[in-house]
Amino acid sequence: MKYIGAHVSAAGGVENAPLNAAAIGAKAFALFTKNQRQWVAPPLTAESIEKFKTNLATHGYEPWQVLPHDSYLINLGHPGKAELEKSRAAFLDEMQRCEQLGLDRLNFHPGSHLNQVPPEESLKIIAESINIALDKTRGVIAVIENTAGQGSNLGHLFEQIRLIIDLVEDKSRVGVCLDTCHTFTAGYDLITPEGYSETFRQFDEIIGFGYLRGLHLNDSMKPLGSHVDRHDNIGKGFLGTEVFRRIMNDPRFDEIPIILETPDEEKWAEEISLLYNMIK
Ligand SMILES: [Zn+2]
Ligand SMILES: [Zn+2]
Repeated sequence: MKYIGAHVSAAGGVENAPLNAAAIGAKAFALFTKNQRQWVAPPLTAESIEKFKTNLATHGYEPWQVLPHDSYLINLGHPGKAELEKSRAAFLDEMQRCEQLGLDRLNFHPGSHLNQVPPEESLKIIAESINIALDKTRGVIAVIENTAGQGSNLGHLFEQIRLIIDLVEDKSRVGVCLDTCHTFTAGYDLITPEGYSETFRQFDEIIGFGYLRGLHLNDSMKPLGSHVDRHDNIGKGFLGTEVFRRIMNDPRFDEIPIILETPDEEKWAEEISLLYNMIK
């Protein structure tokens, strides 16, 4: 079964996210558990946590149907000592917020080498950052999102994600989230039937579908291999609708949160029903 939703607003408190998700007919959702543009945020209140759990249950969401996303400021592969410490502390806080909310996974972008160290060096730093956070938390899976490879961002090649996973000590608590826009602009064809099969054959061979803990569904404003991260609404960009129809009918994407991060949120309810209607 497919669990499709969107990255909804948590304005006014995390407890509002399940309500916003239910309002658009979402069977899964993503949220930021704190302001994603700030380093520090006040802790979640006991009341907010309680209400979040109640609203989840009321609207029939299980924790695994929720895929929280961490702050964009965090760089777990930062070559600078002080900056790395700041990112690691912020990431631990994000993991602990998920723990408090009873959620089982946190989606994050692996990090950037900033052209200061070789990519492999930064990938090792990322793995160590994950190990530190896993050591200090319980029950939350660190879910690495693949990227478009913009600038010095790592995680655009399946091999890079594999390298991180190889260095994570507790393999049961590391996972992957694929973003269709990022996959495509990173250089993996998804448009042709052959490209689609080959891309996910490689994903399975290099990483393994067993690690897949979420999927971001976005069309792309930029072409194949452009390494630019610009999401478009479903069917409006370079990907078109066929790839989404294939995904909707591909059992390898069952039982994971499938999240829209498309730019026009007014269209989310429509896009969710469009996607469900593609299922044969
Ligand atoms: Zn992301
Ligand atoms: Zn994404």
